[in-house]
Amino acid sequence: MAVPSPFNPRLLALDCPACGGSCDLSQPRSVCPTCGKPLVARYDLARIRDEVPRASLGRFGTDLWRYRFVLPFAPSFPAVRLGEGGTPLLPLPRLAEDLGLDALWLKAEAGNPTSSFKARGLVMAVNGALAWGRRGIALPSAGNAGSAAAAYAAAAGLPCRVAIPDDTPEAFQLELAAFGAEVRLVKGTIADCGKVVAEWAPAPEWWNVATFKEPFRLEGKKTLGYEIAEQLGWQLPDVILYPTGGGTGLVGMAKAFDEMEALGWIGAERPRLVAVQVGGCAPIVRAFEAGATRAEPWVDAHTVASGLRVPSPFADSLILDAVRRTKGTAVSVSEEEMLDAMVECSAAEGVFVCPEGGATLAALHQLLRSGEVSREERIVLYDTGSGLKYPEAWRAALARRTAAARENG
Ligand SMILES: *Cc1c(COP(=O)(O)O)cnc(C)c1O
Ligand SMILES: [Zn+2]
Repeated sequence: MAVPSPFNPRLLALDCPACGGSCDLSQPRSVCPTCGKPLVARYDLARIRDEVPRASLGRFGTDLWRYRFVLPFAPSFPAVRLGEGGTPLLPLPRLAEDLGLDALWLKAEAGNPTSSFKARGLVMAVNGALAWGRRGIALPSAGNAGSAAAAYAAAAGLPCRVAIPDDTPEAFQLELAAFGAEVRLVKGTIADCGKVVAEWAPAPEWWNVATFKEPFRLEGKKTLGYEIAEQLGWQLPDVILYPTGGGTGLVGMAKAFDEMEALGWIGAERPRLVAVQVGGCAPIVRAFEAGATRAEPWVDAHTVASGLRVPSPFADSLILDAVRRTKGTAVSVSEEEMLDAMVECSAAEGVFVCPEGGATLAALHQLLRSGEVSREERIVLYDTGSGLKYPEAWRAALARRTAAARENG
């Protein structure tokens, strides 16, 4: 008896934007077999357009599996799920008033499993590992990706190996231990952790789910774009500010908008995508400003926003292309601006944001000052995870507020 394919019958191929190659799903696929660059899933959108009218979405639940007709797995595939996606797009009326803005929202991602939007990508990557019969999960992480991978690996009954920088906040380390992951603490950044994983957890026994080293994290992250469109009644915003590390969400949103246009769900207009980074690690901003299509590795990367401490994003050219194609920009904020914006956002709106979330508000301040964003535009900020995982950053942010209050008498 033929075993039914675990994959979505409308998933046609995995394409390589770098070399124009393409491969099928008959065997485990990590990166392009020809050139080693990221693979991107391509669906039969013309068929899906006929099969799934926008108005029928209500049938499909409220988490990200609502969009499963454009996700990699067949309806019959018993996917491991922990309730990922379906997060609120919160209006920020008090901040909007302070800043004189017409319309400001926050895509608030802390409600995901393991309290960050990494769950969206890792649920797909771990299910991909199951679909391809892989026996173990491995990755380098700055924190949130490791937690999410370990949670889904635990739920899938797979062993998991994670290499993290030795200064990763304790909350992440506790989570990894709770999920039974094997952990290596590494001196350095996520780039150094990547080298450790290559030796300690080699293919093919270990399925590497590092950013863009397999094709399905991108598919999970693209649901951010579908959700924002649906939550705004299919009227996309004018500007989206995204805290950019490896860039999965940024590239994923751009992909989602292209898919939705092919599905006939939205028109040709696109929000300007803004890649937000911090001064201590801003390889994409530097490349954008230089007009380059590749990003040089950032030396001596440092910031408390661990999700942004990615000195050498593997998908640099895809990120830069998404920013440029949408007429967006790339902005770096200082560590201090980020810390102050965390306090500002949380005090005004009651959301205990992570540093990466604070960075998007700090970037908005800059773009309003420079006139690159105007006050009548419809703007979406991101809070990508929970502030609760970053006690050091929050202590520093609140100490700055106390000091400022003292100075002002
Ligand atoms: C990983 C991470 C980011 C960066 O996301 P990418 O899609 O890799 O660019 C931002 N914020 C938080 C909290 C993260 O964990
Ligand atoms: Zn290729």
